[in-house]
Amino acid sequence: MNDIQMQLLIDLHKSNLRQGPGGEAETKKMLKLADIDKSKPLKIADIGCGTGNSSILLAKELNAQITAVDFLPEFLEVLQSQAKAHKEHKVAEKITTLNCSMDSLPFATEEFDLIFSEGAIYNMGFEAGVADWKRFLKPGGKLIVSEITWLTAKRPQELQAHWDAEYPEIDVASAKIKILEQHGYCLEAYFYLPVHCWKDNYYLPMQKGFDAFLERNGQSTQAKEIVEGEKAEIALYEKYSDYYSYGVYIARKL
Ligand code: SAM
Repeated sequence: MNDIQMQLLIDLHKSNLRQGPGGEAETKKMLKLADIDKSKPLKIADIGCGTGNSSILLAKELNAQITAVDFLPEFLEVLQSQAKAHKEHKVAEKITTLNCSMDSLPFATEEFDLIFSEGAIYNMGFEAGVADWKRFLKPGGKLIVSEITWLTAKRPQELQAHWDAEYPEIDVASAKIKILEQHGYCLEAYFYLPVHCWKDNYYLPMQKGFDAFLERNGQSTQAKEIVEGEKAEIALYEKYSDYYSYGVYIARKL
């Protein structure tokens, strides 16, 4: 991807609430399944936080200091201004942003009670991520991570070919759970994101912004290509949503 394409992607995504599938009810469900103590002071890292919709929810729900990490400063700026807009629950005071790549995090050993990462670990790969991040968790600390996952043992060839090219690490939940176990985690819960997390919470706001995005960017060829790429991704999901989603893995470090 060249610089212009990256700037266009940032422009398309930064004004949306989410940069990937998810939802408030589902994030609350994750916290419940992880049995997070809401009264205890916690240290949390949200890795690949985007513009921080979930970081802000974590700040509202928990008695926590949250380090929100992303390698795009443009997303972190939006996060900071949105955190300030939430005067209640001292959200801005609870969140520190960190502009850093997820594969070279500067954290101390056993610093965190919870590592949270939604729709982002694929950027370094699921196995590399869970293996690397484990040292930052306290013993007994929790990992909540979402990862693109096959929902069925078999799937159509067109879909298989697409994901083999995009992210060959995609697999069924049982294979992802095995990786967690091999790296010293104990799985506590698993569920996958329902369709509305993709269509209503992620794709629809993006689709509504396509025309304004093209106008802002002078109807350039590269902007049109970005929109066509997103439309193709949406069409693929609409056709094959029975076969894949984000699996949510909730695990405890042993
Ligand atoms: N967690 C957010 C959400 O669910 O709305 C964002 C998910 S978005 C699909 C993936 C995020 O990972 C983006 O914000 C992107 O900037 C970030 N990202 C990609 N590669 C990264 C890296 N190497 N280090 C840190 N963040 C990265």
